[in-house]
Amino acid sequence: MPPLHQLHLDIDARVDDIRAHHADWLCRMGCDLCCRRLAEIPALTRAEWDLLKAGLLKLSPTQLDVVRHKMLALSEQLTRPVVCPLLDEVAGACSLYEYRPVACRTYGFYVQRDLGLYCNAIKTEVEQGALAEVVWGNHDTIDRRLNALGDTRDLTEWFAELF
Ligand code: SF4
Ligand code: SF4
Repeated sequence: MPPLHQLHLDIDARVDDIRAHHADWLCRMGCDLCCRRLAEIPALTRAEWDLLKAGLLKLSPTQLDVVRHKMLALSEQLTRPVVCPLLDEVAGACSLYEYRPVACRTYGFYVQRDLGLYCNAIKTEVEQGALAEVVWGNHDTIDRRLNALGDTRDLTEWFAELF
C-alpha cells in the first residue's frame, strides 16, 4: 500500500475513534473557519500534491479557472492569514475533500507537543476542560512520516508548475 494511503488510514482511525466518543465534535461540514484563516499558504509533499492534482484534473474547466484565479491572487498576497483557494466559500466545504492534504485531515484531531495546534473553537473547549479525556493524535509522528513523502512546496508553487 502506498505510504500516503496508509497514513490516511491511520489518521482516519484516530479521527473515527475521537468522533465515536463525541458525536457532537466541532469539526463538521460547514465549519470552515480553519480553511478561511490559514496562517500560511498550505505546504504539501510531492505525494500529497500528486493526489490533489488528480482531484484538480477532475474539475470542470470553469471550476479549474476559478481555482486558477484564486491561486494567482494568493501567490501575490502579502498579508496573513489567507483563505485556502480550494475552499468552496458558498458551501463552506473543501472542493477537493477526498484529495485534501494530510494537514487538513489531522487538524482538529491531532496536536503537536508544545504547540497544541488547536483552532480557536477547540482551544476554548480545551481551556474549559471539556475535552480532557480526548486521546489526541500525535502530530510529531505525522510530521516524521510526511518527511518520507518527497520534497515539500507551497500549494501555489505546485499549482504554477502544472497549470
Ligand atoms: S478545526 Fe476548528 S474550525 Fe476547523 S472544522 Fe474543526 S472546529 Fe471547525
Ligand atoms: S485543501 Fe480543503 S480542507 Fe484543506 S484548507 Fe483547503 S479547503 Fe480546507
